[in-house]
Amino acid sequence: MKEVVILLGIQGSGKGTQAKFICEKFGYKQISTGNLLRQEEALGSELGKEIAALIDKGNLVSDELVLEILKKEIKNGKENGFVLDGFPRTLKQAEMLDECVNELGIKIKKVVLIELDENSVLDRIRNRVSCSKCGAVYNLKSCKPKKDGVCDVCGAKLDIRVDDKKIESIQERIGIFKKNIDGIVSFYMKKSLIFFVDGLKDVSIISQEIIKALNSNNKL
Ligand code: AMP
Repeated sequence: MKEVVILLGIQGSGKGTQAKFICEKFGYKQISTGNLLRQEEALGSELGKEIAALIDKGNLVSDELVLEILKKEIKNGKENGFVLDGFPRTLKQAEMLDECVNELGIKIKKVVLIELDENSVLDRIRNRVSCSKCGAVYNLKSCKPKKDGVCDVCGAKLDIRVDDKKIESIQERIGIFKKNIDGIVSFYMKKSLIFFVDGLKDVSIISQEIIKALNSNNKL
């Protein structure tokens, strides 16, 4: 059975960075639903255009569509585990994922919530750039690319995300996160799966805390 680690956190909390770290450490595959949706958007299909309109405004794409995209990615994955970065974003998504664990042959190993206050979010988003090709994320203050404007991983150009350029979109996403997170946390708390880390701590300390939690077989 393949293991799944779920990373929860408000935008800019460092989910992408920590997801990469966990994947390197455990040989898992990172699944960022945001990146998958942006890939669909880049195809320019009718569906891609609908997705683009929602992402630009900071709204959520439908639970059913995101789950479908996620399931496809899990089914195609050859790795022995996955880190979900950006899923679930609603209680319904958490419930839907739970309903298909057997079909997908997966087990949710742990859920990590990286906690970050709203004021820090704006500062992080202002300094966030990401790769237009592979989706790797950088912070111009705390996690700079080796060469300005160029992705360390694949060498493509770094850009500011369209939805990070609009304050209305950022605020919409913060509102949606705050509305949904308590329901998701309670869901995983009842299953004793959730672990909390302080997103203001140094990136490497957060990584260490997450690895420690993942290596422990204790219920939380
Ligand atoms: P992210 O890259 O995780 O910040 O996601 C960018 C955008 O993609 C979000 O603001 C949503 O519009 C959409 N998105 C990503 N993941 C989900 C999800 N699990 N459910 C619904 N929409 C999502």
